[in-house]
Amino acid sequence: MTTKPRILIAGAGIGGLTAALALARRGFTVDVFEQAPELMEFGAGIQVSANGTRVLIALGLEEAMKRVVCEAALKEVRLWNTGQTWKLFDLGKDSVERFGAPYWFVHRGDIHRVLLEGARQSGNVHIHTGKRCTGLKQDGTKVTLEFADGGTATGDALIGADGVHSTVRSCLFEAGKPEYLGIICWRGLVKEADLPAEMRRPVGTNWVGPGGHVITYPLRRGELMNWVGFGEREDWKVESWTEKGTHEECAKDFPHWNPLVHELISKLDQPYKWAMVGRAPMKAWTKGRVTMLGDACHPTLPFLAQGANMALEDGLVLARCLDANTDPAVALERFEALRLDRTTKIVNGSAETGRRFHNPTLADPAQAIAYVDREWQPEKVRLRYDWLFEYDATKVPV
Ligand SMILES: Cc1cc2nc3c(=O)[nH]c(=O)nc-3n(C[C@H](O)[C@H](O)[C@H](O)COP(=O)(O)OP(=O)(O)OC[C@H]3O[C@@H](n4cnc5c(N)ncnc54)[C@H](O)[C@@H]3O)c2cc1C
Repeated sequence: MTTKPRILIAGAGIGGLTAALALARRGFTVDVFEQAPELMEFGAGIQVSANGTRVLIALGLEEAMKRVVCEAALKEVRLWNTGQTWKLFDLGKDSVERFGAPYWFVHRGDIHRVLLEGARQSGNVHIHTGKRCTGLKQDGTKVTLEFADGGTATGDALIGADGVHSTVRSCLFEAGKPEYLGIICWRGLVKEADLPAEMRRPVGTNWVGPGGHVITYPLRRGELMNWVGFGEREDWKVESWTEKGTHEECAKDFPHWNPLVHELISKLDQPYKWAMVGRAPMKAWTKGRVTMLGDACHPTLPFLAQGANMALEDGLVLARCLDANTDPAVALERFEALRLDRTTKIVNGSAETGRRFHNPTLADPAQAIAYVDREWQPEKVRLRYDWLFEYDATKVPV
């Protein structure tokens, strides 16, 4: 019997844990090294579309996820000032009928915890916290990861799943130049009890306006509402998930928006602010026995809500490639070849979606309605989204 390669993973985010669990399910022993001293709930909402839920279901996590998600009926588009509403697409059973898997709204902390428990229960995943990776070495047969505390770990292959500011990426490639887009993102949560009555519905909403957009959707079976607002502003350049702001500053970025939007801002538990940064897609992200996945190699703007979905897809496809090839270097090359075009198209499509949401035409009452009618026609919506949701990471030939 041949022994499976020992796999090292840097980063215990959604992508790192998905890869770890998918590998463990295939009999690999995996060591995951996470810089945080402990793994705890953080972040706000994430939309997991059929291409992502299919991965979670394949990993045996459907029941655990169903206990924490919100499965909404539909998504809609609303005009920033009048609140006029259009249907974007159906969710619920329509997602299952059309794409073979559900569409879930979930708190990032909840999906993270479900993946973490799955990885721990698998018995084959060892998670090491407080281990900040600072460097790596490889010699054609082994890879050694170096840590800030002076320690090292050696394995047969390394997956850099260490997020947008990836150390693995900077060890292997020149860092892509971040381009500040002049867009600030505000996010926060509203408790169900604080919601205006008309917002207590299982619906996701994209409010679109000139120079800004606002996304809302329910989380945790409706106990919370996720609120994310994007405004155009040149003076904020901190790319962080943990930077706090104030309600007043947030409200100022949405002048003359619908009173419902402002009511939600006033009820946010804690507004966080985050600068939107664009990065050109990488042309390669594998060298020898080291590859990357998720935000480490294809960071994206959140406008198609695909960052976490791509990380889920990556994790499963990478595990399947390692399982199908005895030489890890060949497996990693195959993984990159399978994922490059799709992830590049998503990164570019996300930027284009932002321009559609923020179009200046929306400022003109005489043109705004015709603009939404034209841009969100059902046929155009299908062209923009179906190819995302149809992708099946469980079946892509590896
Ligand atoms: C704290 C946090 C909050 C987020 N909140 C949201 C949100 O509200 N909504 C949303 O849509 N997306 C959010 N995201 C982003 C979303 O989770 C990711 O875009 C997506 O899931 C891709 O996942 P990833 O695993 O590639 O990267 P990440 O989720 O960023 O995970 C990377 C992991 O690597 C660890 N790490 C980084 N550097 C090192 C190092 N040198 N050594 C060891 N470990 C390292 C990080 O601590 C992190 O745990 C958040 C990400 C983070 C980290």
